[in-house]
Amino acid sequence: MVLNLEDYTCEYCGKPCKNIVYAAFVCDDPECLEKARIDRGGPGGHMKRKAEGKPIIPEDLEEEARNFHN
Ligand SMILES: [Zn+2]
Repeated sequence: MVLNLEDYTCEYCGKPCKNIVYAAFVCDDPECLEKARIDRGGPGGHMKRKAEGKPIIPEDLEEEARNFHN
């Protein structure tokens, strides 16, 4: 799967997309990330990763999404 984030905008504020969390396109704004997390009902693992200064990468999201649904 190849995604060009530059082709997308944040679902919440309309700024350029920087991250994908729970299949939502969001920018770097923590508020938008939080909204996406709440919307998807996720466990917040990505916020923890973000807080640790690690990048959020689609491959990780794919794997976690699979685990989450199993
Ligand atoms: Zn945003």
